[in-house]
Amino acid sequence: MFASHPASPSPKPSPNDAALPPAGRFAPSPSGDLHLGNLRTALAAWGFARATGRKFILRVEDLDRVKKGAAERNIADLAAIGLDWDGPVDYQAPRIPQFSREVQRLTAAGLTYECFCTRKEIHAAASAPHGIPGAYPGTCRELNEEARERRRQERPPAIRLRADVSEFTVHDYFAGAYTGAVDDMVLVRNDGTPAYNLAVVVDDAHQGIDQVVRGDDLLSSAPRQAYLAGLLGYPAPEYVHVPLVLGPTGARLAKRDGAVTLEELHALGYSARDVLLWLGASLGVNDPLNTTADLLKDWNPGVWNTNPATFTEWPQKQA
Ligand code: GLU
Repeated sequence: MFASHPASPSPKPSPNDAALPPAGRFAPSPSGDLHLGNLRTALAAWGFARATGRKFILRVEDLDRVKKGAAERNIADLAAIGLDWDGPVDYQAPRIPQFSREVQRLTAAGLTYECFCTRKEIHAAASAPHGIPGAYPGTCRELNEEARERRRQERPPAIRLRADVSEFTVHDYFAGAYTGAVDDMVLVRNDGTPAYNLAVVVDDAHQGIDQVVRGDDLLSSAPRQAYLAGLLGYPAPEYVHVPLVLGPTGARLAKRDGAVTLEELHALGYSARDVLLWLGASLGVNDPLNTTADLLKDWNPGVWNTNPATFTEWPQKQA
C-alpha cells in the first residue's frame, strides 16, 4: 500500500520554526574506528553539503554501542582527510529527554503501543507464512489492558509505532523512487534506550538536516524513517545513499579485511592524502582528489560509481 503522506498527530510542531539553515551531516556510531568505507561516505556527505551551500554537521550517535575513545579517533580521522564541519561536534546521548517527548506526542495520538516480545518470539512469528520478511508481525498490537498489565510483571516493554501503512516511498538521488517496508518499528527499546530510527529522525529534523547522505545499507530504512518523520510533522529530507565499499569476499568492508583504517594504513606508509586519492577514485570522481576542495571544484556526483567499490589489500608503500 502506498500512502503519500501520513496524518500528523498534532499540528505541525515545525522544528524549523527557528529557521535553521539547511544542513547535511555525517553521523557515525562510535563503535570502533572508521574504515575506508565510512571515510568514503563521510567524504560524499561533506561534498554534497558543501557543494549545495549547506552547513555540515558531525553528529556522534552515541546512544549505544559506544567504544571508549572511538568518537575522538573518528573525529580526528575525519579532520585528517580534510573534512570540516560547522559548530562543535554534536553528541546525541544528551537528547534522550527530547526523544522521549516526541514518543509521548505519538503516544498521546494513539500511535504507539507496548511490546513485550522477546527476540525469539519475534523471530518465530515473523517467519510465519504470509508475513513481510523481517517485519514485526504485530503480536502485541491488540493486547488489552489486562494482558498488558500481566506482561508488564514479566518484563519491561519496548515501545513500538502503530504504523498504518506497510510501505512508503522516498526519493533518492541515485536510486530514484524507492518503496520499502514500514512496520511497527521499535521507538524505545525495553531498556529505555531510544531506538536508532527514532533518534535519527528527531535529530535530523531538529538540526535542520534536509539532506541525508549515507551508505546504501540504510536505503531500506529510509521509507520507515520518512514515514515516521511525517507522523511527527517533519518534512522528509532529500536522500542520497552511496554504494558501500566491499571487502574481497563481496561482503561489506570490515576490520578483518586487512589494513582498512587510517591508522593501519599509516602504519603501511600511506598518508591521509593517499587515502583521499583512493576515496576520490573509488567514488568515481573524474580528477585526482589531492584535497577535499578538489571535490567541489569539479562537483559532479552524476558521474560517480553507482556500483559498490571493492577494496583490495594495500601493500607496504615503497619509499
Ligand atoms: N549512525 C549510523 C551508522 O553509523 C548512521 C546513521 C545515518 O546516517 O542515518 O550506521
